[in-house]
Parts: sequence; C-alpha cells; structure tokens
Amino acid sequence: MDKNKVTMDEVVNVAKRRAFIYPGSEIYGGLANAWDYGPYGVLLKKNVKKIWWEDMVMKRPDIIGLDSAILMNPKVWEASGHLKEFTDPLVDCKKCKQRFKADDIKDKVCPECGGELTEARRFNLMFKTHAGPVDDESSLVYLRPETAQGIFVDFKNILDTTRVKLPFGVAQIGKSFRNEITPGNFIFRTREFEQFEIEYFVKSALEAKKAFDEWVKVRLEWYKSLGIHSENLRLREHTKDELAHYAIAATDIEYNFPFGFLELEGIANRGDYDLKQHEKFSGQDLKYFDEETKTQILPFVVEPSGGVDRTVLAILIDAYDKDRVEGEERTVLRFHPRIAPIKAAVFPLVKKEPLIMRAKEIYHQLKEKYFVEYDESGTIGRRYRRQDEIGTPYCITVDFDSLEDGAVTVRDRDTMKQDRVPLVAVQEWLEQRIK
Ligand SMILES: [Zn+2]
Repeated sequence: MDKNKVTMDEVVNVAKRRAFIYPGSEIYGGLANAWDYGPYGVLLKKNVKKIWWEDMVMKRPDIIGLDSAILMNPKVWEASGHLKEFTDPLVDCKKCKQRFKADDIKDKVCPECGGELTEARRFNLMFKTHAGPVDDESSLVYLRPETAQGIFVDFKNILDTTRVKLPFGVAQIGKSFRNEITPGNFIFRTREFEQFEIEYFVKSALEAKKAFDEWVKVRLEWYKSLGIHSENLRLREHTKDELAHYAIAATDIEYNFPFGFLELEGIANRGDYDLKQHEKFSGQDLKYFDEETKTQILPFVVEPSGGVDRTVLAILIDAYDKDRVEGEERTVLRFHPRIAPIKAAVFPLVKKEPLIMRAKEIYHQLKEKYFVEYDESGTIGRRYRRQDEIGTPYCITVDFDSLEDGAVTVRDRDTMKQDRVPLVAVQEWLEQRIK
C-alpha cells in the first residue's frame, strides 16, 4: 500500500478499536499526550524490546546489559550538561498568556491572538520532583531525560566488577521524561517515553569514527529486519549547528511517517565528553587500564539511541493495509511474524463438538509457548477479519475432515493460501515461521 495514503486518523482509529493504544486517563477526559498500551499494544511493544535485547545484547559477545534508576543524584545532570543546556527558548503572550517555542514564531506576535510577546527565555525540559518529605531545594530531583547517563555513572562499577575489554557496549531499555512544549503526533512525541540505548566504548577518537559508521549500518539493518519497508527508511546526517551539546557527529535513522520523514533513532559520536565530565564532577577516576599498552585510557563513546514508542508507531503505520476479500474491504496489519502480538488463532469451523474440543486442545498446547487466541463466535469469515485487523499471521481451523485425517487448515494472513498441516506437526510448522 502507498504509505502516502495511510492517514494518522486511520492508524489512531485501528489502534484504539483493536486494543493497541488508548488515550491515557480517558474516563477523566484524558491527559494531554499521554497514551496507554492496550492488550495487543503491550505485546507489540514487548516484542520490539525483546527482539532488540536479543539482537543487541544476547547475540553479541561485546555488549552487556544494565537497568539503572530513573531518579539519580542531581549532580549527574549538572555534569552531563542537561541542567544548563537541555532547554528550549520560549516566549509568552502578554495578552492570552499562552506559551510558545520561540523557534515556532514567525511574525513576532502571538499566533493565537496576535498579542505582544515577551522576550525569549530558556525553559529546561527536565521534569522536577522532590525525593523525601521535605519540599525544598535540598530534596530536588529530576526524572531522567535519557537513559544514557545511568550507563556513564555505572561505568566504574562495570569496569570493577566484570571482565569487559574495550571495545564493549552497555545496553539499556527504560523510561525517560521530557517536558516537551509541543508534543504530538500520537505516540511520536510524548512527555513520558521509552528508549533503547547502547553506549559503545572504544579506545580512541579514530576508533569512535569507525564504530560510528558501523553502528549506523547495524541499526538501519535492524529496522529492516522488523519488516519495515526499506523505502520508508532513510539516513540523515546532522549539520554542525543542530548537533547536541555533547556530539561530534550524529546521523538519524528516519521513517516516512504520514507527517513526514522523522527520527526513529539517533546515532551519535559523543567523543569522551560524558566520562570526562563525570570524572570532573564526581572526582573519581573513570579510566580504563589497557593491558596491551599498559596505559590508562578514557574511552570514547558511540551511542545508538532509539525510541521504543516511535518504533511501535512506525511498525503500525508500515503494517497498515487495506485490500478486498470476497467483495468486502478488509483492514489488515501485515506485521512481520516475529513482531506480531498474536502468533496464531485457533478456530473450530463451527461451534460444535467434537470440533471445539480438538481446537481447544491445540490452543492450550500452543499457548504454553506463544500468545495465541481461541475464537468460536461468528462466521469463519468474521473471525478471519478480526485476526487480520490485529495482524495475526496464521489462523488454524479444525473442521470435520480433521476428525478423519488428523490434520488442520492453516490460513496465511497475507496470501490467504490454505495449507493442510498434520495436527502433530502444527507446533513445529508455526515455530519455523515465527522465528
Ligand atoms: Zn495570545
């Protein structure tokens, strides 16, 4: 399907209707830009994170995992530069009191009411809260705006307690928070979001350059491996003036969203900025002892940092399709089987014994290993449509022939081809296709 024809309305609609994504706090009128993952959404999101963890951590000998705390000593953010640099210039309207990003203002007047605007002031994007019962400056803490700093702060512990040798990476998946002034586009930009990040440490600036190019390739291929069409992915190098305060070079992997090509993941060469800053602010030695050269090295770092929610959105949009089946329009989510929330659905052809009993047996057997569904209500056509809309790749039907030949019909979501598979081989048949 031509991606230009998929609208956000269609995606938001199917996401709500089919239990992928709900508006947050909806019965209370919602909360601006907060979203909840429904029963299928959570499976889709978990699959994204599981595959990332398997591909980037489990299968790689040079990467280890970490899960650091969201609340950190406020000095971390002083050292990282976030307290000073992580800001947006804002202007206020003197008349209607609304606040805007200075960069979005074109005519030097309020875009809402035409009123006069204040001078731009810097607004820090970190959420503040207080830890403990005292509500003053001494208890001030921040919700982390990125997971990366947890990795740098634990760098010394990792060196001291594991046997890592440069080059190596530390990977983390977790929630981050940014008080964005203009969030939007569904789950594309939200104030609470989940990241998957790797900090990949190398010995020198030259090696960092090489690792940077390598990571851009590895990460682009990873998105393709999720089934995202390659024509909807592209790379975009940052210009010097858009680089973050810590970065030497950065390239974004962008997806062709209905609202334009925008960032899914950023790969940044952070140099030795972060470890240097944390050495300075913590007073601790964060150097790595290189056995080969018998020297102390402060490593350089390359960071592939992706958005879990953005990846889920790109997958939903990319999988969204419509076609005609038996004269009826069908909405189908063509998820890669590895990503699909539900791997298979099991039906009795009609709601009658002993078909029900046989179908339930298969369902319970498969459910030990996979997320599968059982459905006996409505016509078989209706049941197919329901599974098509949640992207289930295979539907398994027990019919009257099954009682004679001990086989079932397996129907493919995309080709709609039907295969006859022996009952005893169903699990293996499925396993081969959803790897
Ligand atoms: Zn105004």
